[in-house]
Amino acid sequence: MDLIESIHDIPVQNPSVEDFSASDLKWIKFGTPEHHDDVALIPYARVDEFIIGECSNVECPTRFHIERGRKRSLGSLLEFKSDEYLEYRLYWCSFGPENYGEGGMILPSRRYRLNTRNRAARPQSMRGCTCHFVIKRLYARPSLSLIIYNNRRHISKSGFICHGPLDRDAIGPGAKKIPYVGHEIQQQTMSMIYLGIPEENVLEKHIEGIQRYCGPDLKLNSIAAQYVHKLGMIIKRSTHELDLDDQESVRIWTQRNKKSIFYYHDDEPFILGIQTEWQLQQMLRFGHRSLIAVDSTFGIKRLKYPLCTLVVFDSRQHALPVAWVISRSVAKSDVCKWMKALLGRVRTVDPTWKVNGFIIDDAAVDTDPIRETFCCPILFSVWRIRRSWLRHIVKKCRNIKLQREIFKRLGDLLYDPDSYLVLLDKFSQDFVDQTDFMQYFTATWLPKIEMWLTRIKTLPLASQETSGAIESYHVKLKLKLFDDSHLSGALERVDWLVHKLTTELHSAYWLDRYADESDSFQTVKDEYVNSTSWHRASKIPDSNITSLSPTIAKITSQNSQNSHHIVSNPGSEFAFCDCEWGLRGNICKHVVKVNAMCEGLEGYAGSLSFHSFQGLLVKMMVEKEDDSMEVDLSVAWLSQIYEQIRGLVELNKSTDIGTVVNGFGLKWKGKKGRTTVGSSWTLAQTLAKSSGDVVVRKKIRKRKRLSRLS
Ligand SMILES: [Zn+2]
Ligand SMILES: [Zn+2]
Repeated sequence: MDLIESIHDIPVQNPSVEDFSASDLKWIKFGTPEHHDDVALIPYARVDEFIIGECSNVECPTRFHIERGRKRSLGSLLEFKSDEYLEYRLYWCSFGPENYGEGGMILPSRRYRLNTRNRAARPQSMRGCTCHFVIKRLYARPSLSLIIYNNRRHISKSGFICHGPLDRDAIGPGAKKIPYVGHEIQQQTMSMIYLGIPEENVLEKHIEGIQRYCGPDLKLNSIAAQYVHKLGMIIKRSTHELDLDDQESVRIWTQRNKKSIFYYHDDEPFILGIQTEWQLQQMLRFGHRSLIAVDSTFGIKRLKYPLCTLVVFDSRQHALPVAWVISRSVAKSDVCKWMKALLGRVRTVDPTWKVNGFIIDDAAVDTDPIRETFCCPILFSVWRIRRSWLRHIVKKCRNIKLQREIFKRLGDLLYDPDSYLVLLDKFSQDFVDQTDFMQYFTATWLPKIEMWLTRIKTLPLASQETSGAIESYHVKLKLKLFDDSHLSGALERVDWLVHKLTTELHSAYWLDRYADESDSFQTVKDEYVNSTSWHRASKIPDSNITSLSPTIAKITSQNSQNSHHIVSNPGSEFAFCDCEWGLRGNICKHVVKVNAMCEGLEGYAGSLSFHSFQGLLVKMMVEKEDDSMEVDLSVAWLSQIYEQIRGLVELNKSTDIGTVVNGFGLKWKGKKGRTTVGSSWTLAQTLAKSSGDVVVRKKIRKRKRLSRLS
């Protein structure tokens, strides 16, 4: 075939079939006589269909993952070649690129591998496949993508077909007959076993999975039954204890799981940073230009080393753990090391990856490492302090009226941190006879209350939805970990913690996401969707709230029309509900529902996050700025945010929203007016407690709901 040297001579192909693959395209040699590639030019809009088509290759069914990606923005290049990229993505067959085995060494070739009796050691997913391609969205023509197929055959470095029905070279007795089990099915089967789902159900799903690739076959079914049974046995017998000595055991684990570690420091101070390949993909996907939150200091009293989890918020705004760090050290230099290693790992896949906000939940957290590494604003979530206070109030005071009052009064501290000295003084006088609680409060909180309040005053606060999502993760983690605490000494071993996290917890989250995205495992999916109070609250009809006053709200139970719950201090984040879930310290669905109903009404506290948002804007308007370029930059930023908000509003055009939008327009005055930022800025007016304000916020919320459904 002739060599084509200019991209303009390559025809654009747009196959008429829905999902298409490499075999539906005509491949063209593009480049110079010295260096050329097989390429095809397709519409950018059809890239996904090409990838789906490539995955459903009959001979080698597989998935492709993004191994590396780069992006630039339009207008960033003054001069460019016609094949320069706007977006560059390297897709690799998920059976590659490496072939990790015992000890984390890259195996030379499975053909020469020693036969082993341990069938579990036979790699099911990492087979060293070299099949990969690049998709470049063209800088000069963004509606087109250039596919560069580097290696179209699913072969290993040594040239053998390394997966799929044609791979006749499996290892182990009877392995040749064993059907291909892709990574996804293997993960699904393992997840189900870890979650304790009965073997027959696991098998049914497993067979469904492999039949997608090879069609029904009775013989295959019996092999699959053996496979599932054996996998179950292996998992049941697998132990966290790889060595009697915990430290050595962890060392062995790290040797075997190199791909799941982003930082490891064996000596004092011990630091182990865990992130699986799947977690990395989720961090790339949901963390980019979004939020990361941290559930810090988990198990500080019970575990050998406390656990810190970084979570992102997935397509349903649920917290999804994307990295675990086990360490006692909170020294700035140590935290910097693992944070930089984590960011480095993410950036090797996508150099443009960036996070827009980092939410902390402990006032003692040093914010310098976060600022230095992630270079983004830091927010504060009050879920931990709220939960801690509520649990102790319920435990240490018997009278529910007193419980409600104490909780409300502690909440007042957070709503008005400037008057805390007066408030605290009055608080200790009024509840002096509650000796149990006051002893706890004086010993635990008094010494550090100022530190917490300073954080609350100086950092923007996270919303109740975010707090609820982090709390849901925390509760799930606690349930999974302390469920095992009958194992003597388990909590004292790091290998046990590592094992629990990477098997059971990881599987649970993997299956949740899989169920949601593939719309299968209906019960798992339903449970997952309902796993935050925010979602549970959205199911409660407004009519269930039978009475609402600034002190008490009454809400009918969904299970029985005859019973109801009382939420005291409605509208505040320190609302107190008498349901069982609420009394255990959790943000319950009743509180979320009642608070949503009170939003914007006169006489209710309102959410802390909106208070802090408002405070920030007011502060900005009051403070005089010099007339520098910094002001221009800030104004540019703000107007961008403002445009975004307006865009959201316009998306929901209805009833009186038009008048709200009209009142919104940016009306710049003369240059003089601009030097004091606030005076001419109409958004200020909308922030005042007007009815318009409420409408706008409701609309945004509605828009959020819509986007979550899609
Ligand atoms: Zn492959
Ligand atoms: Zn409740």
